[in-house]
Amino acid sequence: MGILCNQHTMTTGTNSNTNETTQQSAPPQDPPPQKPKAQDKQQQQPKQPELMVGDRCQVVWRDGTLKLAEIIERRERGKSKKRKLDNEQVKVEYYVHYVQFDRRLDEWKPLDQFKLETVDRSHRHVHSASAGLDSSMKPSTDSSAANTLEPTTSMRTTRSSNASSLAALEREHHEITKIKNIQSIVMGRWEVAAWYFSPFPQVYSCCDKLYVCEFCLKYMKYRRTLRLHGAECVLRTPPGKEIYRELDASDNSTIVSVFEVDGKQNPIYCQNLCLLAKLFLDHKTLYYDVDPFLFYIICQVDEEGAHIVGYFSKEKLSAEDYNLACILTFPQYQKSGYGKFIISLSYELSKREQKVGSPEKPLSDLGKISYRSYWTHILLNDVFGKHTNYKEPLTIADISKRTAIKTEDIISTLQSLGMIKFWKGQHVVHVQQNIVQRYLDQK
Ligand SMILES: [Zn+2]
Repeated sequence: MGILCNQHTMTTGTNSNTNETTQQSAPPQDPPPQKPKAQDKQQQQPKQPELMVGDRCQVVWRDGTLKLAEIIERRERGKSKKRKLDNEQVKVEYYVHYVQFDRRLDEWKPLDQFKLETVDRSHRHVHSASAGLDSSMKPSTDSSAANTLEPTTSMRTTRSSNASSLAALEREHHEITKIKNIQSIVMGRWEVAAWYFSPFPQVYSCCDKLYVCEFCLKYMKYRRTLRLHGAECVLRTPPGKEIYRELDASDNSTIVSVFEVDGKQNPIYCQNLCLLAKLFLDHKTLYYDVDPFLFYIICQVDEEGAHIVGYFSKEKLSAEDYNLACILTFPQYQKSGYGKFIISLSYELSKREQKVGSPEKPLSDLGKISYRSYWTHILLNDVFGKHTNYKEPLTIADISKRTAIKTEDIISTLQSLGMIKFWKGQHVVHVQQNIVQRYLDQK
């Protein structure tokens, strides 16, 4: 099992290569000192930035339309050796959050993408002008953290019922994670834009792009390091036992495999997976202590090996009957039915254990949609659609036993379908065949 890459080796090896992508993302250096000119006093005055943190302004979005965005942070790019040579202008960029859109769309935009005539400065006072992270909140700057993966205290969860401390945690979470540190990852043949902050060790956070081995999930700063790693990495499947296999009907070759990886036996693989997953999950709880969890890795299989598509994690022992802690389909494989497959797998495992289960809350927005869709499908298709001739009236407990879905999830789904009533102190299922039929017809 490899450990995370050696930072010092990689940095030394690429410093002389100006073509390396990562060269552009080196930490900004101070501009060269310039002699003051008496006749140019006005230019010596610090120039007021056109936009400040907290301002709102119309910005050109990726499709060319305008969207209202709030300035979260400002940075200067181009303070590099190259600039010293040709006196290139410093490029100012602003990190923006599109008002009323999910944070996954937040991004850096150059000044020329802003419609400055629309600036609204009335929100500025609520923000700190520096808007930097408090040093106590920053992820560790010690490169040894790459091996220990010690979490920042603030990223740990506490199961507190105190609303104010939860609100404080939420504010802290927002402050720490407000700016994406990694902009994209290269994984196999895909380059994928990151959605959210993830607490990679600080030495990796200065890279816009990370290169990830899709088999052992080791992450690297440079493409050529990944290339070298590819020649050495012996893994072609996740480091666990295969628990499910789907064969191609035409030639019996494996097309989908699921592997069970024990967090205790493979901590580095599972920690790397958690860090990668956080890039696409806003509120994922980061379990650096992966020992109590099993990770189920869903893979597409071809002649190269088993390519990770997504995963879910599960506590080995859950007092709350959680059968899933965290679920993710990587963006490049979304909208292909994998979300539903992963959820159904979690319930099949619960059935095997003769238990009912429920996902850990809170669910992400995409998680909510996936679960609501799955529960609706199971109720309307499997419970009411195929077996309508029950000898006895079905109770919610019966449905729960049959499907391994916890009763509270069944009730909330039936409520959303208008198929439940509260009568004489208990919930009564009111199956409306027209709703069932309409659902079955849509499929
Ligand atoms: Zn590898």
